Amino acid sequence: MKTMNRRVFGKKMIKGVAAGGVLMGLPLSCAFGEAKKDTKKLGVALVGLGSYSAGQLAPALQHTNHCYLAGIVTGTPAKETRWANQYGIPEKNIYNYENFDTIADNKDIDIVYVVLPNSMHAEFSIRAAKAGKHVICEKPMAINVEECDAIIQACEEAGIKLSVGYRLQSEPYTQQVQQWVAKQTFGATQQVDAAAAYVSRGYPDQWRLNKALSGGGALMNMGVYAIQGAIYGTGANPIAVSAREESTRPDYFKDTDETVYANFVFPDGAQGQIFTSHNASASTLDVQCIDGFIQLDPAYTYGPLAGKSSKGPMTFPHDSQQKLQMDDFALHIKEGAINQAPGAMGKRDMIIIEAIYRSIAEDGKTIPLDLGTMGLGGPNQ
Ligand code: NAD
Repeated sequence: MKTMNRRVFGKKMIKGVAAGGVLMGLPLSCAFGEAKKDTKKLGVALVGLGSYSAGQLAPALQHTNHCYLAGIVTGTPAKETRWANQYGIPEKNIYNYENFDTIADNKDIDIVYVVLPNSMHAEFSIRAAKAGKHVICEKPMAINVEECDAIIQACEEAGIKLSVGYRLQSEPYTQQVQQWVAKQTFGATQQVDAAAAYVSRGYPDQWRLNKALSGGGALMNMGVYAIQGAIYGTGANPIAVSAREESTRPDYFKDTDETVYANFVFPDGAQGQIFTSHNASASTLDVQCIDGFIQLDPAYTYGPLAGKSSKGPMTFPHDSQQKLQMDDFALHIKEGAINQAPGAMGKRDMIIIEAIYRSIAEDGKTIPLDLGTMGLGGPNQ
């Protein structure tokens, strides 16, 4: 190899700068420490155009700063024209479940957002990863830990980024709780109570009440919010869990859990209780610390959330949580910003869900957990 003296190397570098070249794999602007912002908006394709995509994600994508609605994937042909007209989506960016894999060739699509029934998350997230697209997978990440592992592995092998649709991880009230807890602003947490529930009155054949499609009932659906609340209320993962299930409408909840209560033990001795149900209304987080408290009510809705602490009321301006979430993920991809809801967080929650179901099956037996710091979000990441 030819050696290059310092002066020649320096001259070549200057030429390279003038030409906007690349040094050691970095654009020269970065190599010289000049922050160059990537202003391109990333294209998002929504997979599954049900109520969450139509009611929340697509409207939010009209206001995002770092990504936009570029494509759709649907199993219902009638939705293709409706969505194309409403959002100006070109025909070349419209896919169905069969031709979805050809999205690999579409440069308009950077991120695939899987918004299907839970049992379909793994298949479509893995297909998206294999197509070389970054993935947002809705919550719960899948229907068991094995599927979460398969998603994480596929994304790692493809070298693409993965996030779970935990919108609250980008939400200011939630982030304030995480920061106060991490800093022990009110002293160590001693007790946390988290309740997330709604009354299911819909069609009894809906996929959420069908275990093959949902993986489980209230715990899989609203339970993840309560589990997350208990964790960001203590800043730690539980080391043991015990649980019980109740049903008052077994004729309606034939296949899935209606109401679940679980007790968590945390490493420093803090205790947690979660309540989740498809037959009650609740959206609260109550964190009792040695020198004060933090309370959110509502804690898990689309907002605006509300809360107070020993310091007084909490007030943050409201913005679409889905907008904040998708912009955070786009910035993670573009600029290496923190991934607010990484795959490890979705897998961690699924490990806890499986432990809760096991405890229920074993009459409330305490199930030990060995999660360490897996999936801790926000300031604990
Ligand atoms: P939905 O029933 O309104 O929509 C489901 C979509 O999947 C529909 O477009 C439907 O056509 C399609 N689909 C494909 N195969 C299907 C099948 N076999 N059975 C039923 N539908 C099928 O559901 P949703 O409320 O939009 O929920 C979708 C996902 O989004 C779920 O994983 C849910 O947990 C998640 N979600 C997350 C939030 C959140 O706040 N992060 C809120 C709502 C839903």
